[in-house]
Amino acid sequence: VTDLQESECDVLIVGAGPAGLMMATWMARCGINARIVDKRSTKIFSGQADGLQSRSLEIFDSFGFADRARKEANHMLEASQNPDEEGKLRRSDRVPDAIVGLSRFTQIVLHQGRIERFFLDNIKKHSKDSLHVERAVLPESLSIDEDACDNHSKDNYPLKVQLRHLTEEEATPAQSNGPTVQDGLFRSNLADDDTDDLIAQSRANAGSTEIVRAKYMVGCDGAHSWTRRQIGFQLEGEPTDYIWGVLDIIPITDFPDIRMRCAVHSASSGSLMVIPRENKLVRLYIQLTEIKPDASGRADRSKITPDTIIKAAQKILAPYKLTYEYCDWWTAYQIGQRVGKNFDYRSRVFLAGDAVHTHSPKAGQGMNVSMQDAFNLGWKLALVVQGIAQSSILKTYQSERRRIAQDLIAFDHKFSRLFSGRPAKDVLDESGVSMAEFKDAFVKGNMFASGLSVDYGASMLVAKPGDSAAQGDGTDVSSSSTQIPGKQELAANIKLGMRFPSFQVLNQSDARPWPFQERLKSDGRFRLIVFAGNVLSPTQSARLTSFCDALTSSAFLKPHVHTHIGLLTLHSVKRTETELLRDFPEVLHPFDPKTGWDYDSVFVDDESYHQGHGEAYKNYGVDKETGCVVVTRPDQYVGFVGEVDGEGIQGVEEYFKGVFLS
Ligand code: FAD
Repeated sequence: VTDLQESECDVLIVGAGPAGLMMATWMARCGINARIVDKRSTKIFSGQADGLQSRSLEIFDSFGFADRARKEANHMLEASQNPDEEGKLRRSDRVPDAIVGLSRFTQIVLHQGRIERFFLDNIKKHSKDSLHVERAVLPESLSIDEDACDNHSKDNYPLKVQLRHLTEEEATPAQSNGPTVQDGLFRSNLADDDTDDLIAQSRANAGSTEIVRAKYMVGCDGAHSWTRRQIGFQLEGEPTDYIWGVLDIIPITDFPDIRMRCAVHSASSGSLMVIPRENKLVRLYIQLTEIKPDASGRADRSKITPDTIIKAAQKILAPYKLTYEYCDWWTAYQIGQRVGKNFDYRSRVFLAGDAVHTHSPKAGQGMNVSMQDAFNLGWKLALVVQGIAQSSILKTYQSERRRIAQDLIAFDHKFSRLFSGRPAKDVLDESGVSMAEFKDAFVKGNMFASGLSVDYGASMLVAKPGDSAAQGDGTDVSSSSTQIPGKQELAANIKLGMRFPSFQVLNQSDARPWPFQERLKSDGRFRLIVFAGNVLSPTQSARLTSFCDALTSSAFLKPHVHTHIGLLTLHSVKRTETELLRDFPEVLHPFDPKTGWDYDSVFVDDESYHQGHGEAYKNYGVDKETGCVVVTRPDQYVGFVGEVDGEGIQGVEEYFKGVFLS
């Protein structure tokens, strides 16, 4: 007999770091009954991750808070590499920090605490203040009704989780350096996990508990993931011997490139990376060559202090001088590169972020990839919970994200070795790192590091020709047999499986220029983007009309149009020669009896008054006469490309039959 309080929720999120908060943002945006718990009593206030790549900013923008991050952050525009080929400290090159023209956002740096703040504000706004991070709360048991897992109907809650509520004192981690300077050692991989101790201590104190019955659970509980342990999954991979210290300081120095991202390889004292930050702060990643792992394979963290770290930095930067008066945060970690074999248990319990992949922080990827895991999963869970999409789409989470994690580990492996090794003395010095190789990896790595090279494989969500088994993890995510492969040739630069790129377009009704991608808000809806082409040509106008007629008369699609599939149109004729109400079928700019016509859905590829011409058709690789139609998923990845005609509408219909329930 138990008198524990019992409640139900659709999605239980464990951990409120970047991955958990991204998941909660989707839940709030889509109106899902979710809960999010974190064992710590407070959010992060300083330190931890700080680099935001272009794709993460596009995602923030789709939720409506990229502008906040950009305003507060330091913008990284130039990178320099040191030293020269002879190993002497000398600026060897200067390059743009990000590949020019890839995204409307360049990389920025801002500490994780602020980023978490933006998420929290957004969650509050969209959930109408009903979804909050429940702090000092953690799960202590999970039981799964195995017989009920495959039944995704709305009244089925196969997960039973006991939650434990901690006191403020129990949930506040001790700082090894006293209260003045925050350190991140308690979160570092050099620290043991304290989850079991917290549970044991709270049990001894007779703390309170409750039962939650959930449909789905997402473990966003970091590298030591409790959730991962419960479902018996492990990460595969190795720790390395490289130990690194991290200092967030306001540096006092004569080193000329201190406000630029740069990598410094000293001849024999190790390497250092400079990341200029907001408010005059600089983050230094410093290799601690004098600290080695012991027989257990792990380094003794008590030997590492801000003083040991700055001394190592001074050696690497010599003959330049480096000191500081203000330290904001510091930590140390040992590089380990591991990835999980499984990202979900029976499409009921999922793992995201560090819970399922760990690697060094230097390449600035962890927070970004962790958020993007949850960005991939969140809308899928929301659509399944709402009874809109088939539960089989949940399988694409693993098939899409595991490959990204593997790529990340491979990238990190290469980058860490190049970064941690000493510079080669000459071409015969095989154990040294060639500076030419380092520079090459740095430049190539920029594409990967931007987050824009993500290319999801064929599945019911990406109608590209190809065998989903080729994704290498055995997950069956094949589309329904009738799904029609997209015609990539109709839109050469809108790649199936990749995110929809952005070029400037104008609003047909008011001439305002917009980056087109900005119109693809993350609101849980797919988008049908009609590249209407030359709408003044009678032939093209007839094709457009018949496509729109078929769209509105399709018994399958009709109930989803506008509700689950938003419509956007981009035409290629001069704006001043076309009229919204005359030249475009009504479904493209629907009439609402209370608010009138929709003026925000039809756009044109034309010259703007103040910001030039976006040349969108040319840049997207779409024919200006005949156009095409593109389906994007709620996360802006491209699912289907077809013609603006009867065959195209059939392709669109078959695509959605493979995704929606009815
Ligand atoms: P975490 O951020 O680890 O969050 C996990 C959350 O779960 C925590 O809030 C924790 O309290 C909670 N939790 C844990 N266990 C439980 C439990 N049992 N019950 C309830 N709650 C629990 N990444 C970048 O992209 N760019 C960078 O520049 C960068 N720099 C870094 C610098 C340092 C020094 C470090 C240590 C990391 C850096 N990273 C960086 C990596 C980045 O911090 C992580 O990859 C990212 O935070 C992972 O996010 P997450 O949400 O998966 O996990």
